[in-house]
Amino acid sequence: MKLNGRPRAVVAGGAGFLGSHLCSRLLAEGYAVYCLDNFMTGRMENLRSLERDPHFELIEQDVIQPLPPSLNVHEVYNLACPASPPHYQRDPIETVKTSVLGTLALLEFASLRKVRFLQASTSEVYGDPKEHPQRESYWGHVNPIGVRACYDEGKRCAETLCFDFSRRRGLPIRVARIFNTYGPCMRVDDGRIISNVVSQAISGEPITIYGDGEQTRSFCYVDDLIEGLFRLMMVQDYAAGPVNLGNPDERSIADLVQSVVRLTGSRSEIVYKPLPLDDPKRRRPDISRAKELLGWEPQTSLDQGLARTISWFRSAGASVAPAVGQQNLDAGETTRVV
Ligand code: NAD
Ligand code: UDP
Repeated sequence: MKLNGRPRAVVAGGAGFLGSHLCSRLLAEGYAVYCLDNFMTGRMENLRSLERDPHFELIEQDVIQPLPPSLNVHEVYNLACPASPPHYQRDPIETVKTSVLGTLALLEFASLRKVRFLQASTSEVYGDPKEHPQRESYWGHVNPIGVRACYDEGKRCAETLCFDFSRRRGLPIRVARIFNTYGPCMRVDDGRIISNVVSQAISGEPITIYGDGEQTRSFCYVDDLIEGLFRLMMVQDYAAGPVNLGNPDERSIADLVQSVVRLTGSRSEIVYKPLPLDDPKRRRPDISRAKELLGWEPQTSLDQGLARTISWFRSAGASVAPAVGQQNLDAGETTRVV
């Protein structure tokens, strides 16, 4: 690893969808980047072009394992955690350990080195929200014993740890509550809505809508999200609490599917499957805090972002691999019929 007096960052989860985009962005900003990942859902393909950069180094290990205290870095980003429901539900105990013990290990490291720490939290901390749109002041509505709890409660506890390290040890932390984000470098078998629908539409496979498709999400293009994370890490005098990062353009799942069908010209049939348990009905970020604190708001429309994503999926050969969905889960435990 060449350092050349560069600022240095650890990106935990750097081989994943968002993490690999963040590593690229940091390298472009003149950073030396240590990417920590155990490849649970990350992929070497995401790192191919980065590995050639002399300022990039891969540390292949579980985030729960401590980093060497001698690792001399200035910033720590924690993105390590499977984010797609079928992936984080596959081994829920591992998901809780990753979120809670992994965040704790990285916080201890950051605290020892007295460096900034950014936690990739999630809109899932709001659960199936009773308040709409969701502001950071909302405490959420999470089922603590349901099938999504390993992720939701793991991320909530990780936030708790961040704020306790800030209060007790003066650690400069930042917490981003990320809303549904999509774009190139998502796994074809990721299992989330946009990767599923795009790969299904391109390959002519049936497009799967869970439930009646009236549930909503707000979709943020990856470049916009990475800009928000970068600005959040950079911001001085951060005392604002968690910051929502997402695109307030709220769409129903049925509406999203129609957009993908229109942009791909797909003739796929649409099939309706049972709605997963505890699937939130509505989600839209209030991004006033991000606008005020970071001067940030998304720049990419859904059509623009989808067009770029579709083009990447086409070139990445998405049509040969099946989308992942509920067929990979135990239907008896995880779904209900609407
Ligand atoms: P992803 O699954 O593509 O990436 C997660 C990365 O973490 C992968 O590279 C995976 O191998 C790695 N990882 C998982 N467990 C690990 C462990 N124990 N040790 C080391 N590495 C481990 O998911 P993503 O969409 O890139 O999400 C990145 C982060 O952002 C996650 O923390 C997620 O909770 C958060 N987030 C993402 C979204 C989104 O819409 N993409 C929304 C909210 C929050
Ligand atoms: N969904 C769907 N078809 C799919 C995958 C997901 O209808 O093939 C639905 C899912 O039930 C949810 C929404 O799309 O209502 C977003 O799901 P995703 O897993 O992308 O994100 P999350 O539920 O974690 O917000």
